[in-house]
Amino acid sequence: MKQTIVFATGNAHKLKEIQEIVKDTDIEFILPNEGFNPIENGETFEENSLIKAKEAARVSGKISLADDSGLCVDALNGAPGIHSARYADTPQARIDKLLNVINCETNRNAKFVCAMTLVDKNGDILFQTRGECLGKIAEKQSGINGFGYDPIFLTKDTDYKLTMAEMSEEEKNEISHRSRALRKVLAYLQVKNLG
Ligand code: IMP
Repeated sequence: MKQTIVFATGNAHKLKEIQEIVKDTDIEFILPNEGFNPIENGETFEENSLIKAKEAARVSGKISLADDSGLCVDALNGAPGIHSARYADTPQARIDKLLNVINCETNRNAKFVCAMTLVDKNGDILFQTRGECLGKIAEKQSGINGFGYDPIFLTKDTDYKLTMAEMSEEEKNEISHRSRALRKVLAYLQVKNLG
């Protein structure tokens, strides 16, 4: 029988990515019950992922996993970071703003970060971890896959040849910050049998 875990998100892209990663395991993810409305006022990825996981456990009464992720750009001292989703009004506006802001920068190093927190049905932390994916901000956007900042993120794993939006879903899942964090959560779940 599959172990059901609530994945605390409203982002369909994230859910699709993690469902693909666990498809051959005995874990299945479901969305939180109605009423899931976390106030993401933490100051770190870890704090925000804990807030979301606790809120999912509160409305669902089940073991819950949350991620909080974002893009950290060296030349911007780690911005947009935890504010990645709110950096501008639309996904395209966020890309345009970032390209504009780092237009003159020679250091285009950046990383995607994903903190994940697993809580029990009472909202107490079982496990917390982080995955990162290194890259650079491209001069212009390229590719149509993925979501968010994928079209402007050249991945180190491809020697900066491909943006994440030019990679297939399977290729992104090999290297992404989210998959790296999730694999550590899966390893934890395999050792602990939470029933
Ligand atoms: P969150 O839902 O608060 O974790 O917001 C994360 C935001 O960071 C997203 O809305 C995207 O803008 C960005 N982001 C996180 N992960 C990715 C990714 O895998 N690709 C592209 N953008 C991402």
